[in-house]
Amino acid sequence: MVRKKDRFWSYVEDLDDRFKCNFCRCDFAGGAYRIKYHLAGVKGHAIDICTSVPEDVKNEAYLAIGGINKKLKSASSSSNAQESKATSCSTSKDLCQATDSKMCGKKDKSVVNKLLAQLVMVNNISLDVVQTTSFIRFVQGVADYGPEYKLPSNLTLQRKLIPNLMVKIEEYIRRIKNSWSITGCTLMSSIWSDVDQRAFINVSAYSPSGAIFLKSFEVSRAKITTLYIKDIISSVIDEIGSDKVVQLIIDYTTNFESTRDMLIGKYPQLYITRCATYGIQML
Ligand SMILES: [Zn+2]
Repeated sequence: MVRKKDRFWSYVEDLDDRFKCNFCRCDFAGGAYRIKYHLAGVKGHAIDICTSVPEDVKNEAYLAIGGINKKLKSASSSSNAQESKATSCSTSKDLCQATDSKMCGKKDKSVVNKLLAQLVMVNNISLDVVQTTSFIRFVQGVADYGPEYKLPSNLTLQRKLIPNLMVKIEEYIRRIKNSWSITGCTLMSSIWSDVDQRAFINVSAYSPSGAIFLKSFEVSRAKITTLYIKDIISSVIDEIGSDKVVQLIIDYTTNFESTRDMLIGKYPQLYITRCATYGIQML
């Protein structure tokens, strides 16, 4: 959904998370909320006031932040000018949404909760997402940034933000894989099925530098034989280099002994153990 751009963006140049004032040519971080305080000449909102804004634009911005309609006392021309307090939010609903919630009276958590439920339902998002660290950090980040936070476009996300993140993830994975030649790594493999009863063999690697997910093999239950598991694990070990894999932890109970014997026959240095967590869960 494309949100209508605040009209005050027409007085500045959009620099993607920043803006450059058309009047004083200074640039600042932030969005519409900060543009209005800059143009309105209201001090005390963590942004310098504009020294070149025309009087009509200044009045317009002042009204938009909830100021009363009176001739403004220029904050820039008088150091003794009393800081204006934006208290009125009765101007319009739109104004109320655009300004600080503290100015708009009591915060209503149920409104935000309803927006979250709508987001999850309309976009078919898994309910687990709301409890993930990444989602919680994003919401906290928006709250910390303040009401002037402007969501990036899907194009910015696709062409800039995600590729930048991919570079960082690849660096992280490369750093961890490089550490295996010094410390070695432990492979952890488990079998699980999804709601459609499809079975997967997942393989992750752990070392003192961190843990990474390596591979997931979709398999049908009928194929999960000792030989098949041995082939899958062998392919991962050979890809990493058998001298870098010191331990294998698996949670397969039915095939454990036979899988262990076959793998130790091929990789005698490998230490193979059952998954302790799985064992505890099975008690
Ligand atoms: Zn300016």
